[in-house]
Amino acid sequence: MPSSTFTLQKYKAADYGIHPNDVSEAALATIHELTKAGFQAYVVGGGVRDLLLGLHPKDFDIATDATPDQIKRVFGRGCQIIGRRFQLAHVYHNRQMLEVATFRAPHEEHTAHSQTSAHGMIVRDNIWGSIDQDALRRDFSINAMYYQPETGQILDFANGMKDIKSKTLRMIGDPATRYREDPVRMLRVARFAAKLQFRLDDATEAPVKDLAYLLKAISHHRLYDESHKMFACGHLQALLQHLGEMDLFSALFPQVKEDVFNSPLVKLAAKNTDDRIQQGKSVNPAFFYAVVLWEWQQRLTKLELDRGEDIFPAYQSAGIKVLTLQSQQTAIPRFVAQTIRDIWDLQPRLEKPRSRVVPKLIIQPKFRAGFDFLLLRELSGDNRTHGMGTWWEHYQAVSTDEQEVLLRLLDKPKAKPKSNKPKKPKAVVANTKEAQ
Ligand code: ATP
Ligand code: MG
Repeated sequence: MPSSTFTLQKYKAADYGIHPNDVSEAALATIHELTKAGFQAYVVGGGVRDLLLGLHPKDFDIATDATPDQIKRVFGRGCQIIGRRFQLAHVYHNRQMLEVATFRAPHEEHTAHSQTSAHGMIVRDNIWGSIDQDALRRDFSINAMYYQPETGQILDFANGMKDIKSKTLRMIGDPATRYREDPVRMLRVARFAAKLQFRLDDATEAPVKDLAYLLKAISHHRLYDESHKMFACGHLQALLQHLGEMDLFSALFPQVKEDVFNSPLVKLAAKNTDDRIQQGKSVNPAFFYAVVLWEWQQRLTKLELDRGEDIFPAYQSAGIKVLTLQSQQTAIPRFVAQTIRDIWDLQPRLEKPRSRVVPKLIIQPKFRAGFDFLLLRELSGDNRTHGMGTWWEHYQAVSTDEQEVLLRLLDKPKAKPKSNKPKKPKAVVANTKEAQ
């Protein structure tokens, strides 16, 4: 859509219940310093959008007409320039970090500062521009509003306020072109639709299925970061639904069968993750990864066992294989991969513990995550846990004396149910097909 189809709308923030105090002190101070030095500076994107929706913004991103070098001159040692593909300034204020981005112009192909790949993907994007140019290269209309706390004005370049009111997620410009420029925008469509509970504009949604394959060209580090944001967005259940409808799973998890995302384990884990975030608790990115990759891990473990491997080494080598392959898609950091493996490796140990190892297992640093995982499997109907999720839950809740009793019972061989039928004589199977 050419920029001429939009008319700049100006709003008084106070009319929408937004006041400078709603913005973090660090953002106010950064905007103040830049303004004092003669530059324009605004809160942009999620900060403005979430305030308008009555939500608590996760952070406040700043946009300015100062170039990264000029920002550096204003803040000196309190500023660090980062990034190549997309240069940004990190400004520190009382240990808080703010992202300060210079207004960008639409990219032009193959110049020194901007480059497009054969698929139309922007691989370098550092041409500075004016505020209205900057607005139109943002992703959604609702993310292209600028708030200046000192003037109390909100500038709306792409009818974002209208879309806020009608709860519509709309890509600015021609959606297919915008996805080709940056395929990660497709994942952002799913994430923001879920997080904000917005309706998807038809034209925004339509090209995604056909273009989802473009995500394969994205750096696996960026895809990991995006997957992390998705898992922790607080609306993972709705997000899984959107990802399924838009065929976006396979770009992130090509080896995971699509129906895994509809499995009781994944659904329950997504609900638990959302509940934790709702309650202000932290979520470990490793946990949901462990859940999503579990079926695949189990498939490979079975192959190892069928080959005659023992249970613990089978789990370990299957885990390593799964994580090595998945990391080619989403670069799982080493410490996250270690936690995923710890969670998996604990499963057979927690399923069939001997009494003497129980006290050792319970003090392992990853016991809690492993136990949560076991319980979740059990609650989602996985009977391979032999009810041990509930057993461990009970064990942790009772007194030391009662724990002793539980441990004694644990080593007792389980009595086989008695049968009244007369015993059959053992079948003689020599020379039959089954015996070969
Ligand atoms: P939140 O931080 O709550 O996840 P946000 O909208 O602030 O949401 P960020 O990823 O912090 O999202 O990005 C800040 C702003 O930068 C966005 O609001 C949007 O205007 C712009 N932006 C981010 N990623 C893209 C992208 N891939 N393409 C175009 N614009 C983008
Ligand atoms: Mg943000």
